[in-house]
Amino acid sequence: MYIQQVDTFPLLYRIAKPYGDANGLKEYRSCYIIRITTQDGVHGWGECIDWLPTLHLGFEKRIIPYLIGQSVQQHTMIVQTIKKWHHRAASAVSMALMDLLAQYAQVHLTDLYGGMLRENIPVYASFQSYSDQTDWMNLSLRKIEQTLQNNYSMLKVKIGGRSLKEDQAHIKQCMDLMSGQDVQLAVDANQSYDLSTAKRWTTLFEQYEQWLWFEEPLPLNDIIGYQALNAALSLPIAAGENLTQAPDFIPLLSKVGVDIFQPDIGHHEGLDEYRTTVNMVRAHGRRVSPHAFDGGLSLLHALCIQCCLPSSSKMGGDDIEPVEWDVMENPFHDLIPIKPRNGVVHVPKGIGLGVELNQKLLQQYAWDGSLYQA
Ligand code: MG
Repeated sequence: MYIQQVDTFPLLYRIAKPYGDANGLKEYRSCYIIRITTQDGVHGWGECIDWLPTLHLGFEKRIIPYLIGQSVQQHTMIVQTIKKWHHRAASAVSMALMDLLAQYAQVHLTDLYGGMLRENIPVYASFQSYSDQTDWMNLSLRKIEQTLQNNYSMLKVKIGGRSLKEDQAHIKQCMDLMSGQDVQLAVDANQSYDLSTAKRWTTLFEQYEQWLWFEEPLPLNDIIGYQALNAALSLPIAAGENLTQAPDFIPLLSKVGVDIFQPDIGHHEGLDEYRTTVNMVRAHGRRVSPHAFDGGLSLLHALCIQCCLPSSSKMGGDDIEPVEWDVMENPFHDLIPIKPRNGVVHVPKGIGLGVELNQKLLQQYAWDGSLYQA
């Protein structure tokens, strides 16, 4: 089980009509796929996201030369080493090595995590609400309307990137659109507000009942602010997508400011670190709703780990939190042949990841090496 070859597939997609959140508009989606092959000809896939020129140079000059000849069984040591150089690259290598280990063991990845507790995971439709169009609000509402036809019962939209008045007008129209339907809405501010501004949502929150959560209302280091806001609101507060290690979650877990934690595998330093985070959150009796906004492999790993996580409560039978499902223009979701039906994803079993990666897309969206604005 020695690594003989590492192939990389930097992918870039230019978005025809840029969309975004409070952090700005996205003009590109990118994805960096790796394939690690052993001397026996077995291969595993991994994925990470960052500016492609940085990732490519890092893999070509440092990570690949280090990986060649290493034993797959030493995956913990390998990931621990690479995370010192680039933590997102470590995540990609971790995915590929776990895929390989499952294949050598002739089991599904979830068998290495103690086995699936469930095969179906709910997902929520995640929108990027803003565009450079003057009628952005209408465009957002039409997109939500179309998505609702696919029977999602949970949605997430963006706030914090426009004035409070404009954002609240948008959210009221979203609620009116959902009225009478069994659908809940999360609002995501991407850490845009201070405490007093976040509290100005209270009146609107009290006017409706179909709330899922209030996401990243404040800068994440404002733990006192999160506590104060949590005490003032009746809906849950969610956060955590930008944290990279399990210990980063400790300050938030030790206070009652965040109800739902949203770790992202692609932002973590590998699958072991991510699993430490989700288990630690569970050990504190909190909820885990994974953030998964980039490529298909991170999403699939998040779904697999959610399949193995004990329920968050004893209410309603097998109660498991939803995983994010990006409904914007993102061709890299199609790397895996999985689609939700009625807001639920069935995670297939099989050897390794249980699915075949769509390798045609690796050619179709191959990055041409040109510099682009990150
Ligand atoms: Mg978010």
